[in-house]
Amino acid sequence: MIKSENKYRVFALRNFRNIPQIQEHLSEEEQHIIEVVGNVLPFKVNNYVIDELIKWDDVPNDPIYQLTFPQREMLSDAHFEKMEKALAADLNKADLSKVANEIRLELNPHPAGQESNVPEIDGEKLTGVQHKYRETALFFPSNGQTCHAYCTFCFRWPQFVGMDELKFAMRETELLVKYLQRNPQITDVLFTGGDPMVMSAKNLASYIEPLISGDVPNLKTIRIGTKSLGYWPYKFITDRDADDMLQLFEKVAEKGIHLAFMAHFNHPNELRTPAVKEAVRRIRATGAQIRTQSPIMKHINDTPQDWSDMWREQVDMGMIPYYMFVARDTGAQDYFAVELERAWKIYREAYKKVSGVCRTVRGPSMSADPGKVHVNGVTEVNGEKVFVLSFIQGRHPDWVGKPFFAKYDPKAIWLDDLKPAFGKEEFFYQDEFEKIQLN
Ligand SMILES: *Cc1c(COP(=O)(O)O)cnc(C)c1O
Ligand code: SF4
Repeated sequence: MIKSENKYRVFALRNFRNIPQIQEHLSEEEQHIIEVVGNVLPFKVNNYVIDELIKWDDVPNDPIYQLTFPQREMLSDAHFEKMEKALAADLNKADLSKVANEIRLELNPHPAGQESNVPEIDGEKLTGVQHKYRETALFFPSNGQTCHAYCTFCFRWPQFVGMDELKFAMRETELLVKYLQRNPQITDVLFTGGDPMVMSAKNLASYIEPLISGDVPNLKTIRIGTKSLGYWPYKFITDRDADDMLQLFEKVAEKGIHLAFMAHFNHPNELRTPAVKEAVRRIRATGAQIRTQSPIMKHINDTPQDWSDMWREQVDMGMIPYYMFVARDTGAQDYFAVELERAWKIYREAYKKVSGVCRTVRGPSMSADPGKVHVNGVTEVNGEKVFVLSFIQGRHPDWVGKPFFAKYDPKAIWLDDLKPAFGKEEFFYQDEFEKIQLN
């Protein structure tokens, strides 16, 4: 049965102590920890996450609790003590956020050169657009720059804690349409955020309609990167404009444009509520496809079983497994990081367990500066142990699909940690990459 209590209620630092499950299951000391860490990293949950996803008897190990609630080890001892002291000193709001920002700046708030992908049109910067890979432009609508709850590992966290002005956001599609018309190689627009699915149907329509009006013949696919199916499936069932939203999706399909939900799920428990099942059914009935992706993270989903269950259950629900990512080098990365070798082993163990219909998934993949780098595996070549890597996406399209090799390093967690194998000075793409960066 779909729960009748489905009015969206949000909890954050100011009111999380009112959550009945918090009062019942957490000590005063544990609540204090949430307060301290939550003053540095973003923290927001809602009643669906609290009442239907988290299994409170398993707290603190419950994966969805780990996904949404600040944990002590997400900060170093030094950072934790610094914030704890600041809170005890009863600073005013401005001084408190100054302390918070000092800590945040030491947490690599802007990984993988996101700023360098902002295109221009007639000398004007399109600040709400990123264009890194030839066929796909990312679009950040200004009304979609928050989420229904926050993930503790999120790499977009600086914008949620107010460190960044919404410098990637864009109010209108007018310039985007012009940019797409001048760049006929672009076939896909990917709406992202935050979560574009925090927008009302009316709001989203104002962005989508100019794109499907027939003025952009090269546009084949509209993708929506969203965690709403994990964090607020009622969006598509009982929210006031749920039916309008579904009609908008139908309209996209009627225009012959593929609507692809890029749904973010981190754990099989997110696939098991009646609400998410009904939401997926309704979205699929509009002609949209749902592809799924997640990073692999310690404390949340670092077992083969988590992944094979996810892929199997997603396919049972009519979704298409798409990407397994490696956790980005930002925020609480030390807490979540899974070594590249271990990520590959988990991927492989899970992949072995499922049939071909689930094997549409690719990973583990790092979204790094030069591109999406796939860890194909660890092997030995002429007696040297190496990582085999390849680009799934590259800043230069020609880099894609070409195997290259890095020295084996069991502790490596990101591309920056890897050195070329066989005594080479640099990876094959390095020269070209530097040239691209100079432009
Ligand atoms: C992942 C990503 C895309 C989409 O890549 P696909 O492989 O087509 O899904 C587009 N732009 C950026 C910047 C990305 O990171
Ligand atoms: S839903 Fe996506 S953008 Fe929002 S907090 Fe989670 S990872 Fe970040």
